[in-house]
Amino acid sequence: MAKKQHTSGKGVLPPEKGEQAMIEGILEGSPDAVGVAVIRLNCGCRKMAALDQAGDPASKIIMYRDNAESICDQCSVDHGDFSRVTKQFVSWKSPEPDFYTKKMIVTKVLGTEE
Ligand SMILES: [Zn+2]
Repeated sequence: MAKKQHTSGKGVLPPEKGEQAMIEGILEGSPDAVGVAVIRLNCGCRKMAALDQAGDPASKIIMYRDNAESICDQCSVDHGDFSRVTKQFVSWKSPEPDFYTKKMIVTKVLGTEE
């Protein structure tokens, strides 16, 4: 049985556990990053990339699949096509950027306002 860890955050959209570990890993490897864009795909794989203050990528795009050695067959073909995205958001590094910076980055990266 997996231990349930209660993560106390501000709520909005807490990343899943495996995701959170990946996000932390990415942030560690990307000192300039202010956050990580997380894109969930309908197959269960994820795409992630660190973002800098200007909303530009601060790392390579990383694809991974929870509890798996590699991404699924579908993703290896279409590289996580946009049409299969189920959810996307930015997980901010703390301290989080100010409201306007966040908004600018989210709009630039995800193309939507949350
Ligand atoms: Zn996949």
